[in-house]
Amino acid sequence: MERLKIAIQKSGRLTEDSQNLFTECSIEIQDGKRQLLAPSPNFPIDLLYLRDDDIPQYIEDGIADVGILGENIYVESGASLRIAKRLGFAKCRLSLAVQRSEKYSGADFFQGKRIATTYPNIVKKYLAEKGISAEIHQISGSVEIAPNIGLADAICDIVSTGSTLMSNGLKEVETVMYSEALMVANQNLSAEKEQILQKLLFRIAAVETAKKNKYILLNAPNESISEICSILPGMKSPTILPLAKEGWSSLHSVVNEEVFWEVIDQLKEKGAQGILVVPIEKMIL
Ligand code: ATP
Ligand code: MG
Repeated sequence: MERLKIAIQKSGRLTEDSQNLFTECSIEIQDGKRQLLAPSPNFPIDLLYLRDDDIPQYIEDGIADVGILGENIYVESGASLRIAKRLGFAKCRLSLAVQRSEKYSGADFFQGKRIATTYPNIVKKYLAEKGISAEIHQISGSVEIAPNIGLADAICDIVSTGSTLMSNGLKEVETVMYSEALMVANQNLSAEKEQILQKLLFRIAAVETAKKNKYILLNAPNESISEICSILPGMKSPTILPLAKEGWSSLHSVVNEEVFWEVIDQLKEKGAQGILVVPIEKMIL
């Protein structure tokens, strides 16, 4: 029986969320502190712990089958892989920033300037699309200090809150791309590996759906049950059970959490009492 090799970041911002993705799907995993390749004892996957920069190449070469990495790293690598799923964590943006004292009136500013970045390919493509030619200096870390030490006029780097830029006297002036964690896969997986991937994606979807929904239980007088059902959309077929108390029923259903907060006052107005909202662990539609 084949096993799916999944590359994840060994140690960094993506590691914990990547590992949680498996454990929430009831897939037991081992961490990568002592071993590079960690088989799961209860699901046919092996985790391969790597530096995030190495993940695209490993998958393209078929050493790993699937990987979890930032969109920024995937796009920069130019590797031709398939995006199996957008995972929604590690959200950030890649932005151009200049010294705060600079007058900035538009992207033409970068004409003939020196830009320091870890993402030369993304920056080159962005500037080419705008018809701007600039000098790109590829550096591997601490990009934000480049303008202060006279190495560059501007930088292109990852931003989430902007506090790193601020503390280095820089201001963000253009967003080059938005990024989130992706699950990517080799284009030519064997049928058996593809089947394992689909099984994994099915579990991830069930966990995702469950997070968005809650199980709701409430008590209400019989005469308002039908109105309560119409207030709570998405309740195709609530379960209604008679209470021991004459003229009252208990209503059970699944609702979107956001909807629940919007209609809570209306529910109480209709006489709903003892409202319980409980988390759902897995949900298959
Ligand atoms: P490695 O040692 O594996 O090469 P790294 O130092 O290159 O790690 P990290 O800083 O751990 O990378 O970031 C990993 C990814 O997390 C980035 O490529 C990006 O997609 C995302 N990321 C980085 N910074 C932030 C942030 N401030 N907020 C949200 N996501 C971020
Ligand atoms: Mg890296």
